Amino acid sequence: MTDSPIRNYRQIPSVDALLRRDDVAPLVAAHGRTVVTEAIREVVEAMRRDRPGDGPGPDDGPGPADVARRVREAVSRRTQATLRVVINATGVVVHTNLGRAPLSRAARVAMDRAAARYSTLEYDLAEGERGSRSARLERQLSALFPGHASLAVNNNASAVYLALRALAAGREVILSRGEMVEIGGSFRVPDMMAESGARLREVGTTNRTRLSDYEKALGPDTALLLKVHPSNYRIVGFTMEATTGDLAGLARSRGIPLIVDQGSGYLKPIAGARLGDEPTVEQFLSQGADLVTFSGDKLLGGPQAGIAVGRPDLIERMRRSPLYRVLRLDKTTLAALESTLQAYLMGVERDDVPVLRMILASREDLTRRAEAIAARLAELLDPQGLADVVEGASRTGGGSAPELDLPTSLVRLRPGAAGPAVAAWEAWLRHAPVPVVARVREDALWLDPRTVDPSEEDDLVQGVAWAMERAIRDPNGCA
Ligand SMILES: *Cc1c(COP(=O)(O)O)cnc(C)c1O
Repeated sequence: MTDSPIRNYRQIPSVDALLRRDDVAPLVAAHGRTVVTEAIREVVEAMRRDRPGDGPGPDDGPGPADVARRVREAVSRRTQATLRVVINATGVVVHTNLGRAPLSRAARVAMDRAAARYSTLEYDLAEGERGSRSARLERQLSALFPGHASLAVNNNASAVYLALRALAAGREVILSRGEMVEIGGSFRVPDMMAESGARLREVGTTNRTRLSDYEKALGPDTALLLKVHPSNYRIVGFTMEATTGDLAGLARSRGIPLIVDQGSGYLKPIAGARLGDEPTVEQFLSQGADLVTFSGDKLLGGPQAGIAVGRPDLIERMRRSPLYRVLRLDKTTLAALESTLQAYLMGVERDDVPVLRMILASREDLTRRAEAIAARLAELLDPQGLADVVEGASRTGGGSAPELDLPTSLVRLRPGAAGPAVAAWEAWLRHAPVPVVARVREDALWLDPRTVDPSEEDDLVQGVAWAMERAIRDPNGCA
């Protein structure tokens, strides 16, 4: 094959000829024939569309080497369609769009082992017979919450759904209008309720709901009282809500359960965590909630999961529902969740669980890291970019403590002389070899070291410099 320009679509190389080229063949070894063949078809079809006639084109067309380059790009687009690692420089610790909680090393090792080998998933080694998939997890949770039973499913939405379905289908559930919420990723309480077959009985108003509102709504058809922790917003000002203790008392006097959707999985108070009044699972249980549900991958810091802890008879009814089998955890998630809970049981969660480590990072440590990053960047970017350190705030995110600011030190990046437009800089940063997600505000880019692991700092610094250079050279290239 010659490398002269293609003027005629008949001259576009055949799929086979392209597969044999020295600059294409290695792609087959790396990514497999199917992906590369599909990429070639995509490129060839695009070229035919661009030059539909069969006469010579007005310009010299691309040469076969260009075709091969397009094929390489198409292969790379296809193979990058899977999850990519990013650096989270936003300072939002539990970032729902970026995968919520990064897992501890121990949890990752446990997942890998469960995935790679056979295991005692449902096998009792002592008896040599079938065992329970969830027995270890239940033992851990009852060690953390003595006297309570538990169960785990795929996410907290599933846990709430299973509870409503198993405990309230065809009957009424009383919920305050102040808690008719939508929580990240379109978890809408009223929709969930409708789907479960339970009937929503709204009481009170958006800002004020009294215990007497619940009392008046209670009737023979009431299955349970539901309280949803407003995890991603606060109602402030002229407000009133019935306390968990009051609701628990009312529920008990009528012989029905109180279920609390706690959300964050903040299990017990952690000294120095500055989580404000974010209520813990332990607190709701001690205030008399009969069942508390929460996520595994928010403040708990484990894998995506939903956990329900509470009265054994309620947990048992949920477990007997066929829906429980539908929503059960897979073995790798189970391994990661058990490993994360083990850190709590051993009292090493502050050091081992990344979400907690990031939340607990000291101001001095964050300032020191921000200054070191800014110093490296100031040197690399000069004179087109400026880097300095400014006081700021991180967020816990993921629907927890919505008003709470965690004091931090931010690296501020501004364009200098002949510098890039901030929007282009930010866009190229998202396309860096290791993509970086940063905040844009006041015509500057902001990087929060709290959510950047120290091992990611080199990639962060190189990415920022790379993106600045691209943004200057090709401001619209990433639009
Ligand atoms: C986050 C949250 C949910 C949804 O949990 P997922 O684990 O994302 O399914 C439900 N309720 C509350 C109160 C939450 O904070």
